[in-house]
Amino acid sequence: MKKEMKNKYITFSKNIFIPVTNVCRNACDYCGFRARSLEDAYLISMKEFLVLVKTKGAATEALFTAGEKPELAKLSSFFKKKILDSGYLSLLEYTKELCKLAIKHGLLPHCNLGVLNKEELKELREVNASMGLMLETIAELEAHKKSPGKITEERLKMIAEAGELEIPFTTGLLIGIGEKPQDRIRSLEAIKSLHNKYGHIQEVIIQPFIPKPFTPMWNKKPPSFEELKEVVRAAREILPEEVAIQVPPNLTSPKALIELGASDLGGISEKTLDYINPESPWPKEEELRKMVAPYELRERLPIYPRYIEKGGYSEEIRPLIERYVDEEGFRRREYK
Ligand code: SF4
Repeated sequence: MKKEMKNKYITFSKNIFIPVTNVCRNACDYCGFRARSLEDAYLISMKEFLVLVKTKGAATEALFTAGEKPELAKLSSFFKKKILDSGYLSLLEYTKELCKLAIKHGLLPHCNLGVLNKEELKELREVNASMGLMLETIAELEAHKKSPGKITEERLKMIAEAGELEIPFTTGLLIGIGEKPQDRIRSLEAIKSLHNKYGHIQEVIIQPFIPKPFTPMWNKKPPSFEELKEVVRAAREILPEEVAIQVPPNLTSPKALIELGASDLGGISEKTLDYINPESPWPKEEELRKMVAPYELRERLPIYPRYIEKGGYSEEIRPLIERYVDEEGFRRREYK
């Protein structure tokens, strides 16, 4: 029997996507984002960042992504020189400054910088509305053989520490990178037990692998839509109802997945690319509305209503939340 659709709204947020650096210590076989040579390595400059921020339009979220621990990457000398030339000592220090500037320009930061330790999480907590780290999978995979940061225990530890610090958190599964169906279930079970302990997981992304040119997995097929449906169905069965299931509408068609329990479409940018999947533009808000009809599309902030109600966020971001939020915890319909 089909599970009754209980979601009141299908939610999304408006963001600008800020790729801080593509220098990464890992080399995942499916990744088209990380720099492979000096020629394509970058650290976003303050000037480039401010140009992006000024195009924000109606966005409320600044999504910061970066390669993991660039200080330990093969291209670390490039990164270290760039960061020192910018007047900072580390990715963490620089990103924190960018977060503060984003706040000044009316954007609520959400950082996803890969694996961080508890001290680093604590530093960024003050200037973030929520944070994230994809678990991807609990399985040990061939695709991660050159990625020291993709050790399951390290990732689970960070998600747990974010829970100890009461950081509203986004995680998710990457589907089709060599994991088996039972690994997906085990991954969902692991997320569930972390949420049961700390209560901090606001959403779980179910993201399909999309092959990228010039990567070792360029000729591997993405998962079938049937597989995605299976994972969303399992996620809705396993995860507590308060944890939203997010499906990216630029990588899959959400309607059938919404029928199975997905209720969020993630961050959508009208002004910037999805730098992880640059070949897949985001639909515009009006298209999204049609995609999810007859369900009502509703804009949220990068922090979910439940966590706004709890009120554990920092004083640095409080004024912005108060400016944007409505009485239901979503983005005010009339902007101010
Ligand atoms: S950790 Fe992320 S950025 Fe780094 S290689 Fe893997 S997928 Fe790419």
